[in-house]
Amino acid sequence: MMYAMGIDIGSTASKAALLDENGKIVGKEIVPIGTGTVGPQKVFNQVLESADIDKEQIAWITATGYGRFAFEGINDQKSELSCHAKGISYLMPDIHTIIDIGGQDIKVMTINDKGGLMNFVMNDKCAAGTGRFLDTMAKVLDVETEDLSDLSLQADEVAEISSTCTVFAESEVISKLSSKIKTENIVAGIHKSVARRVASLAQRCGVKEEVAMSGGVALNNGLVQSLEEELKCKIRVHEDCQLAGAIGAALYAYEGMKRERME
Ligand code: ADP
Repeated sequence: MMYAMGIDIGSTASKAALLDENGKIVGKEIVPIGTGTVGPQKVFNQVLESADIDKEQIAWITATGYGRFAFEGINDQKSELSCHAKGISYLMPDIHTIIDIGGQDIKVMTINDKGGLMNFVMNDKCAAGTGRFLDTMAKVLDVETEDLSDLSLQADEVAEISSTCTVFAESEVISKLSSKIKTENIVAGIHKSVARRVASLAQRCGVKEEVAMSGGVALNNGLVQSLEEELKCKIRVHEDCQLAGAIGAALYAYEGMKRERME
């Protein structure tokens, strides 16, 4: 049996997905460190180990993500937009708008029925509203990023955070903490501020239902709910949302493997 691998080397996390000759997903792994670290090599080894196969059984590797040009031994590379579009339409076929929030960028894209990219909008270079912004706010609050969702869902009031800039928002959070405002309410305010920013980006792209979120930040259900309120529509999240880019890349790798066989 030969296999096709998709590897998504992000700014914050490395992800890999493995398909067998029948196009079935037989391995998927996430390592929470990204480009410029041992993360990419680690996720590569981990996915082989979890599927119990050798390196020699990989017929094609497609890389995507911010760090895709730095990984050696790949057969080709694809943009993150193409891979998220392909991955999400494979996981959730009825989706027409994807909001992908990763470690350092926000991308909104609309796709057609075949998963082809129609339009997209990205954030500027600023960290506002990204995973990094949420990670920084979690640190200031002395909580884990993974706990932000539960905390915001326990809020009884939303403590407004008016700055979108990471540095100013950090000062605002510190000032709210010193005024004895509950952490839960501050987290709800942080989510609202991120949701407002993401919603305005999404509206610039044009929102066509159904809408899905991909990327690691989609695991934050509190933020997803806040964004649903801003966009006034339901947002679907697949349990493999953070792996959507790697799965899309693996689907491209599968096509590469089949093409090579026909030649
Ligand atoms: P990239 O592709 O840029 O490396 P990812 O799509 O992998 O980014 O997302 C990384 C971000 O996902 C992190 O910055 C973190 O904020 C967020 N994240 C990861 N796991 C969780 C979780 N369980 N709950 C909330 N946020 C999470």
